[in-house]
This record gives sequence, structure tokens and C-alpha cells, in this order.
Amino acid sequence: MLPNRSQEATLEEWLVTLRKHRNYAFRERTVGFESNNKHNDGSIVYAYGSHCELESRIEYGSCCPLTCPVVKHGVIPHQLKLATKQTKVKDKLTKEIIAVKTDWDSASGIQMKVTTQLRKSLNNFAAIDSDVLQRNIIKLDKAFSNFFDNGKGYPQFIKRLDSFEYKPGRVLLRDIRKNYASAYLPGIGDVKFHNSRDLSIIQDLRTCTIKREGGNWYISMLVDLTGSLPDIKPLEQCKSIVGIDVGIHKLVALSDGSFIENKHPTTNIRTARRLSMRQRAISRKRKGSKNKIKAIKKLAKQNHKLAQYRNGYSWQAASIIVKTADVVAREDLRIKNMIKRAKPKSDGKGGYKHNGASRKTGLNRVIADAGWGEIFNKIAWLALKAGKPVVEVSAKYSSLECPKCGHIDKKSREGEKYLCVACQYTEHADTKASRITAKRVGLVFPSKELTLPTDCGKVTLSRYQSIVIETENHAFEVNSPTVGYLRDKAETLKESSSL
Ligand SMILES: [Zn+2]
Repeated sequence: MLPNRSQEATLEEWLVTLRKHRNYAFRERTVGFESNNKHNDGSIVYAYGSHCELESRIEYGSCCPLTCPVVKHGVIPHQLKLATKQTKVKDKLTKEIIAVKTDWDSASGIQMKVTTQLRKSLNNFAAIDSDVLQRNIIKLDKAFSNFFDNGKGYPQFIKRLDSFEYKPGRVLLRDIRKNYASAYLPGIGDVKFHNSRDLSIIQDLRTCTIKREGGNWYISMLVDLTGSLPDIKPLEQCKSIVGIDVGIHKLVALSDGSFIENKHPTTNIRTARRLSMRQRAISRKRKGSKNKIKAIKKLAKQNHKLAQYRNGYSWQAASIIVKTADVVAREDLRIKNMIKRAKPKSDGKGGYKHNGASRKTGLNRVIADAGWGEIFNKIAWLALKAGKPVVEVSAKYSSLECPKCGHIDKKSREGEKYLCVACQYTEHADTKASRITAKRVGLVFPSKELTLPTDCGKVTLSRYQSIVIETENHAFEVNSPTVGYLRDKAETLKESSSL
């Protein structure tokens, strides 16, 4: 996005106000909860009689002070009428209003109403589009429901806010040219931006997010496109499969024997040194000084550049993988668990043994730098667009199991080499792991190549007929008449030549 100077200043002001607004709303809910909890010495007055326990995340009754104004010290505005909401009860048949029900409003409902009032008295609130402010509260609500329903962490105060949202239908696209377009953002004005996609096909513009990243501004639009995604091909109709194995030395090994290199965007020696230099430069500067802010901006810019590089590279990698075959098989990796800190090892005397923590930290950095999760996400999206299924299989022993005989032995693997101790099958260890991944999906394909028995001597095949056996599920049996015919012919040829 290319805002002009005054627009950029407005955007930056908005982000500051929105951050304060969000933190205020968050504090109001938390204090409301805390002041009614066991830490409070004063008398506790429950307006509705329910409360919840923060540790066990149990909501007693149907109300919780973090989301509902059930307690007196919770989100209760100065005017009590703001704390209630009226719902119109309609008759099911005639659709006429038969009654008006008065109920306690939710915390977000009240905070939205208070925000609307604040816009009348405070200039910095009035400057911001009202929908953007309300969206801010909805986002906080989401953070709380993530905590209660999805097991996420308790929301935190935020030190820095870098994005805000517009409701669907608020942003208008104007003046779409070949390289750039301009969008009307309510409260900001017309802002030019480089368009990376064909915008003329957009019919319905949904939520728009404005984002600040590495000193640049971005607009991302959620759109409804005409035409839907293709149906995912059922596994029985797929004719080829590619297994992938992600690693550090080689970023991705494909089961067809090819590799995608790992470029180590941030952990290669040059970049890592530059990053640590920039980090040191920040820590040398005086706190709160202009030079410190400058140094921080420099680092942010560098990090942003690297992130963009990694993003582009993983799109390329994902595209290569999805184009290779009809089905993509990948390991079910818990990347988050993999980059956990090393567990402390007790030596039994109150001290700690060496647990390889610093080594693990370095490894964690390399794993995060490779961006496996990003590649997986991109594969999922590209495969969805192409109508190809992606299958996740268990990653257990995938680096040790032999794809030929199924033997599992630690001795088979030595670094990058794999040599099965049972059947002498040998392959690059990563390629082998990708083949195991592909094999675990359980698809069997007819082999297209026709091979003659090895003992057929001088005989050369006179007529090669490629055979494609079309069975419904490809769980095939190669006993088609053609094969038998060719084999018979080879036999007779052999006989005649030996005569
Ligand atoms: Zn083997």
C-alpha cells in the first residue's frame, strides 16, 4: 500500500489509539474479574450469581464476568441502561413483534456502546472509523473465547499493534489499473496500492485488513470469488503419488529422488552474523533515544525482507511438490513440539546435568528457519486448488524402516546414507524416508514398464506395446493378456534363437 505522508501519519495514530482502546477494554474485564475473586477483601456482589475459575476454566452457570457483566465490578458502565440489551421477540408466523425482552448485555456489547459514547467526547476516538473500533472489541472477544473454548493462553496486554480491520462492505475498490489500484478506506481516504492479483474479477469484498510490516503498509482483502474450487479427486482415481520428507540438510526430499535445497534464509553464516550485529547495535543505544528507534527499524526491515524471501521460496517448493503427482503424502509432524526447549536433567544432588540446551536452541532456530509449517500450509492450499488430496501419515520410524523389506533397524542408517541390514537396499536417507511416507498411504499402482525375464539372453523385444491397465482402484494385478502374450513370444523367440 502506498499511503501519502498525511495518510501514513493518520494510520500510525490510529494504531496507537486502537492499541490503547484494546488494552483498556481488556483491563476493564480483567479487573472486573479479579476484584470479585478471592484476592478481594471487600464485599462481593454478584449481580447475576455466576462466576468462573480462571485456573480450571470452568464457567459456572451460563455467565462469566470476562464475557458477561454478571458482577458489579465487572464491565458495568456508568449508566446502567447501557448494561442491558433489548431483544425483540417476533412471532414465528406473522413476524410481528410480540414482546421486548430485556437482558444483560455481553461485555463486548457494553464496551461497544461505551466506545460509541467516547467518540462524542474524545477527538482521537472520533477520528477513527466506528466500525474499526468495534472490530477491535470483537477481536478481544475472540481472544477470550479462544482462552475458554480452545485452550489458548489468557489474553495479554499488547505492546504493539500493527493491524486493524474493516468490516465487509466498508472498503471500496476504485480505479483498477494494470499495476496499481486505489482503495477507499473510510476515515483515511483513497489509498493507492500495487495490485498483485487481477482485481477486476472481485465481486464481493469481505473483511479488509490493513497491516504494517517492516516499515511498509499492506492491505489484504478477503474475497468471494465466482466459481468454486474443484472437488478433491478420490484416492482410487489417483494415478501417482509423491511422498515428501522435510529435513534440515535438504529442505524437502521427494520420493521420485529429487531434492529441494534448504537455503537457510536466516541461519546461514552471513545473514546470522548481520542479524546479530544489528541486534547488538540496538542494545548499545541509549534507551528511548532516537538512534535506538532507528536501529530497531533497521532490524525490523531486515527481518521482513528475510521473511518475504522465505515465503516466496516456500511457495516455489510447494508448487513443485504439488505438480509432481496426483496425491501428496506427508508426515504428520508436530513442529511446535519439536522446537520446545530442552528439558532440564537433574543429577540427583540438587544440581543439573548437561542437557544439550544450547545445542537444542541452535537446532530449534534452524528448524524454525526452514519453515516446514509454511510449506505444509502452502501445499495444502495449492493441492486444494488443483483438486488433489494431501494425506498425512504417521512419522513413526520413517527414518529407519526399509521400504523394500520393512525391516526396522537403527544400524541401517548412517548420516545421509541408508543401507538396509536385512536386504541391502540402499538409498539417500531422506529419499528413503519420503518413499516410506508415500508407501504408508497404501496406494498400489500398476507398473507401466514391461520387463522381460533376466535370463532371456540375446532376445530383444521386437514390438513394445505400452500397457495401461485401467482398474478402478489401481490395486492391480498384472496378469493382463498382453503381458502373458509378450512373455510367451519372448519364450518362443528364445527357443528359436537357441535352435
Ligand atoms: Zn530391507
